[in-house]
Amino acid sequence: MKIKLIRERRKTLVLKIINENEIEVKAPTKLAETKIYEFINSKQDWINKKIKKMKEFEEFSKKFDFEKYIYQFSSIAMETKALSLDFSNSTKKWKLIKNQYLSLFEILHDRARELADSLGFEVKKISPLSSKCKWGSFNTQKEMKLNYKLIILPKHLIDYVIYHELCHSKHMNHKPQFWKEVEKYCPKYKTYRREMREFSFVLKTLF
Ligand SMILES: [Zn+2]
Repeated sequence: MKIKLIRERRKTLVLKIINENEIEVKAPTKLAETKIYEFINSKQDWINKKIKKMKEFEEFSKKFDFEKYIYQFSSIAMETKALSLDFSNSTKKWKLIKNQYLSLFEILHDRARELADSLGFEVKKISPLSSKCKWGSFNTQKEMKLNYKLIILPKHLIDYVIYHELCHSKHMNHKPQFWKEVEKYCPKYKTYRREMREFSFVLKTLF
């Protein structure tokens, strides 16, 4: 493994994993090199674990066909024309995929509106959310945001996220009362939360 050592005016040692073959260590200017390597050795387990996770994520992300998946979960999606463009430019490719997802936001919007209205929740606005860590949000102005990437999730998970956000109109936190409220509409929410975790790589994939 390659170690990139950066000396700077600091008091502590900081370790960062760049990729599976390289780590970066920031160290105080005068700290002996043996001390630095001792530190790295003591963190070997942590480093290995992180690298393993990193690799798993990359593999999963590579195998996942984002273009195909958007056609799987809704009939409207089936009607949108296939992406038959040249994807030699990868930035362009992701832009196109994002646009495809955004063009399907209407499905998410309508489902959220349907659930909110049928359950008597007041929601003033439903708009797309672009986030690497959140599937949805709900603010005090009664505006709901849903991550446009939700469109590739199975329908029951899309509904779970909508119920979850709707319940935030009553509880702006994740305390037990909040989960009790979620349970009313979504009795299997615990299982669904676990299932959601399997899709976290979708969130983390940048587009
Ligand atoms: Zn929440």
